[in-house]
Amino acid sequence: MSRIDVNHVWKIYPRGNVVAVQDLTFTCHDKEFLAILGPSGGGKSSTLRMLAGLEDITRGEILFDGKVVNHLGPAERNVALAFESYALYYRLNVYENIAFPLRARGMKGPEVDKRVKFIAELLELTPYLKKYPGSLAGGVQQRVSLARALVRKPNVTLLDEPLSHMDQRVRHELRARIRHLHDELGLTTIYVTHDQAEAIALCDRLLIINEGKLQQIGTVEEVWNRPANKFVAYFIGEPTMNFIPAVVEGERTVAILTDEGKRVFTLEGNLDSKYVGVEVTLGVRPQHVEVFRERQKENTVAGVVKVIEFQGDKTVLTVRLEDSMQTDAKAVVPARERYTEGDTVWLYFAPAVIRVFEGENLIL
Ligand code: ADP
Ligand code: MG
Repeated sequence: MSRIDVNHVWKIYPRGNVVAVQDLTFTCHDKEFLAILGPSGGGKSSTLRMLAGLEDITRGEILFDGKVVNHLGPAERNVALAFESYALYYRLNVYENIAFPLRARGMKGPEVDKRVKFIAELLELTPYLKKYPGSLAGGVQQRVSLARALVRKPNVTLLDEPLSHMDQRVRHELRARIRHLHDELGLTTIYVTHDQAEAIALCDRLLIINEGKLQQIGTVEEVWNRPANKFVAYFIGEPTMNFIPAVVEGERTVAILTDEGKRVFTLEGNLDSKYVGVEVTLGVRPQHVEVFRERQKENTVAGVVKVIEFQGDKTVLTVRLEDSMQTDAKAVVPARERYTEGDTVWLYFAPAVIRVFEGENLIL
């Protein structure tokens, strides 16, 4: 078993009194692949270093399988680590770097050899085994660091942007191999990245952190469909979610105000009656917007096509809406549908795809 519980954990760096992590609580289940995603400076590495035992926990508790590990060092926690900065042993060759964690645990010759060669093959490091890290390119050094982390079966594998110095092709290839290894060896992995595509490709669940605070934890589908707040809504998804100002009309209706009147939209599900009359923001994914040439009966707002981005399999339209704020909204349409700049179109939002935010928070 390798379950991790993080309970109300804080990290405050005395130098500069920086609050890097605030009251963070989450669980990583046994054999789960959890991706920690967030912008630079969000507190991802601080969280990972506290999990690894490389950084003091200012407040709160970290538990491995129900036991508090706050005061244990990295070796006692039995974690494997690979960081963006590779921290290799420059006096040892690649083979010995990878073998290091095995030898440190008393493993002997033939077994070490078998494991090192297996992982080297998997990460395309076989030609480099006799070389010294100092003579290798950054991307290769990073692969050695990753191999060293993955060579044995630890309680938890902690990876902090382990692919950041590699070129695009290698990153894609290694992504698949890391996931394969995780499944094959039954690892429990926490993987830090600022790259949403990488996180989405790898993980079972995503944890999104910003300014040291947990924003949301859930499957990719949950986070994409029901982002907990505007930050998550904007951070996940490409093109980004449309935000359109509106007013709550009733428990199941909202209105987009225009200079001539309003466009009314029916929702799926009920808003609390306390929101009637309140200004809100509608959130609609560009992939969920349906574009028509003529006015539809309901749930539509008109606009003028401003920008057309052809992307091969699809086209992204930017439409200047008729609302009083002249909001720009994006719609993803099939590439075979032809539009011209200046076309008037009607955007339809089905009740089920309309999210409603009040302030920063999701209310429907
Ligand atoms: P991320 O990995 O998401 O980019 P970090 O955990 O590295 O974020 O940093 C979170 C915040 O803590 C940032 O404001 C960063 O400048 C600060 N920070 C990180 N390490 C230290 C440190 N050793 N001393 C002081 N501040 C730090
Ligand atoms: Mg970092």
